[in-house]
Amino acid sequence: MKLDHIIDKAKKKALNSCCNYKISALSFNGKGELIFSTFNRSRFDKHGGGQHAEMHAMLKSGPSLKTIVLCRVNKHGKLLPIHPCISCKTKAQELGVKILTVHELLWQNCQKIKNVVIALLLKFAKNMT
Ligand SMILES: [Zn+2]
Repeated sequence: MKLDHIIDKAKKKALNSCCNYKISALSFNGKGELIFSTFNRSRFDKHGGGQHAEMHAMLKSGPSLKTIVLCRVNKHGKLLPIHPCISCKTKAQELGVKILTVHELLWQNCQKIKNVVIALLLKFAKNMT
């Protein structure tokens, strides 16, 4: 799945939530295929109480789960920072699952683009000499 598709899907999923904290979790297997997606419901309201979207994803995605992408938006669909809590992180470690936030994905992508640009510049500079 391409990054912008993942982010788009995560945002739309999070907007389904009627909570103030609109959070979605997308589950991917080792091949990077989307296997499950969920959002927080009212009884999970406020990150910090009840069951979180990422916990729900870990319990429902099955053994092929490798990565969870976590996303939080405001009611206009704007991305907001989100971090998995300690209990979700601990559970993820037990299962060997990596929880990534949309912000981390964007950041990784920035770094990748940066590295490509640097490589091109270096190549260019080499050709100049
Ligand atoms: Zn949590």
